[in-house]
Amino acid sequence: MSSHRAGRRLLPAALAAFLLAAGLAGCSAPAPSEYRLPFAGTFPIMQGVYRVAPNGDCVSGCATHSAGAMQYAFDFALPDDTEVLAARAGRVALVQGSWPADHCGRLAGQDPSSGDEVVGMTLGNEANFVEIDHLDGSAALYLHLSSVDPAIEAKARTGAPVARGEVLGRSGRTGWTRCVPHLHFQVQPMVRADWFTDSLPMTFGDPDVVDRTAEGVPEQGESYVSGNARVTG
Ligand SMILES: [Zn+2]
Repeated sequence: MSSHRAGRRLLPAALAAFLLAAGLAGCSAPAPSEYRLPFAGTFPIMQGVYRVAPNGDCVSGCATHSAGAMQYAFDFALPDDTEVLAARAGRVALVQGSWPADHCGRLAGQDPSSGDEVVGMTLGNEANFVEIDHLDGSAALYLHLSSVDPAIEAKARTGAPVARGEVLGRSGRTGWTRCVPHLHFQVQPMVRADWFTDSLPMTFGDPDVVDRTAEGVPEQGESYVSGNARVTG
């Protein structure tokens, strides 16, 4: 009877020790990011994560990446026809590569009540893109491509895996880009042919990004040396 009672008193102490150890483990350095920049070489970041300064001034992602949808998206200033590499391994979820490379445009007009510029939904969706399913509930969107690599279009049919560093296509300006070539990249919480949707916070593990940022999040206006490398799928 007494030993039974002692056991019952010891249990909470053991549980507390376990939770403390688990908590300390959780405070250790985060696991290295599986993402690398979606290109080879060095290119500037046109728009970074949407951020507002304490005084209310928008300091990053202000042009088109507002809070909510696209909040954690990046626009990389890739010139036309630069190879776009998979930032992370997965499987091809969606592909659209049939628009001509010069199929690009601007905003549709102004909302008469708010005066805000309105995205033409038709043109907004008339972009070439690849979406890679990471098979963990997230997917990466590579948007505004000039063309999709034929091997990726084939993998969209076969379901064959895509390795990090595989060429997904070539960068361009298709869709709502004001015809300025760039790569819009975002990680989404689901596979969805819709980029006016929530984006997920994420980090890059490229050594140059890790060395020069506190969180592994590239800064708008900066250029980083990609740690990604082209591989053949
Ligand atoms: Zn963008």
